[in-house]
Amino acid sequence: MPQYNRGFVPSHLVCFNGNCRAQYPITEVIYNCPRCGGLLEASAPVGLDPERLKRLWRERRMSNAPLDQSGVWRYRELLPFEDQLEHAVTLREGNTPLLSSPRASAYGGLRTLAFKHQGFNPTGSFKDNGMTCGASQGRRLGMKRAACVSTGNTSASMAAYAAQAGMQAIIFLPHGNISYGKLAQALEYGARTLQVEANFDQILKLVRVLAEQLGIYLLNSVNPFRIEGQKTIMAEMLDQRDWRVPDWVAVPGGNLGNVSAFGKALRELQSAGFIDRLPRLAVIQAEGSAPFEAFSHAPAAAFPTVEHPETLATAIKIGDPVSWPKAWHEVTNSGGLVEKVTEQEIADAKAVIGASGIGCEPASAATLAGIRKLTAAGRIPPDADTVAILTGNVLKDPDYIYRYHTGQLTAHSGAIRGAFENAPMVVPNDPERIAALLA
Ligand SMILES: *Cc1c(COP(=O)(O)O)cnc(C)c1O
Repeated sequence: MPQYNRGFVPSHLVCFNGNCRAQYPITEVIYNCPRCGGLLEASAPVGLDPERLKRLWRERRMSNAPLDQSGVWRYRELLPFEDQLEHAVTLREGNTPLLSSPRASAYGGLRTLAFKHQGFNPTGSFKDNGMTCGASQGRRLGMKRAACVSTGNTSASMAAYAAQAGMQAIIFLPHGNISYGKLAQALEYGARTLQVEANFDQILKLVRVLAEQLGIYLLNSVNPFRIEGQKTIMAEMLDQRDWRVPDWVAVPGGNLGNVSAFGKALRELQSAGFIDRLPRLAVIQAEGSAPFEAFSHAPAAAFPTVEHPETLATAIKIGDPVSWPKAWHEVTNSGGLVEKVTEQEIADAKAVIGASGIGCEPASAATLAGIRKLTAAGRIPPDADTVAILTGNVLKDPDYIYRYHTGQLTAHSGAIRGAFENAPMVVPNDPERIAALLA
């Protein structure tokens, strides 16, 4: 493995609350600050040499060492919490492409739009970028069991990484609110799966209590090590662009862990001298689950939790996002914004991404829908160099796709009229009639 020779300075956990900033050893099993209840983060890496590291990270792409082949651990100098790499568990996550589509760019009102497609990950979503780090930390702490609450992708990812790490996965799902593709993955990867009759936010509270009681490692998105792994999405994106900074990065917002990770990564890369400015972060939410968008209009008020979140984009169906304080810091620090889009807008944007040969799950398409709305309103200029994060794979939710293309998709807000409907046709076994149909 090509090594980077520097004095390794291991990080510690720091309370994100600016009035507290308490510090804890990296090996303490805590998910919130014991002193004030605030969110925790891993302290930033120190002593990075940008020019050497840019070269080293490129060189590692030619290596056959497992950790070099991982699009997360390749950037391990950005992950200083892990000084014992023998604990690292990898399925060769990351390594996701930047894809362009003239059709989707035009639909979004942009000249240049690239999709960073996290659906190319081993379990089909960006959750793998974080889970490889979270599961590695669980193993390092000697944990035998890991648990999460999930709208689907977290459970699919945790089940796979726990299995690789030799931990028993226990998954808590909202009963009846999850796509079959994701549930099927959790079952196949061998997780104990409990469907609770409550919504995501309620189950999260339940599991926190259980994790403490039973000594189970909690791998929810509050887990600061998952956030660390998701930082590498930005590092890899910049590496793929030869370190040219885009003007905007658009990302769907659910629990708001991903945008928190992106902001942290970009700040750390800027202060270490890898980049000289920050892209602006645009967070897009679904209209029926948009507390962060509401908060962005009145940030002095209490956080406006949505009690009964609604959207067919189940991955972002979250009314009480745990990471909002971090996310708000990153959005404002980057000069970014928060927008919301309708079910109809998500569905049509998704079909455009699909018709480009790219495809994604519903939550991911909120990015293109949001970009279209923001360019139309003049909030993003047409020549803005923009990267949209496609968070999940097209096959995660085939039921949604079938319904959209056959005119049977209905959201809480009413029926969706697919502007790009593409229904299969039943035809007789008759070459002449088929030829006539295709003429
Ligand atoms: C988890 C997830 C999201 C939401 O990400 P947050 O970090 O919770 O904001 C969006 N899209 C997909 C596909 C996801 O799996």
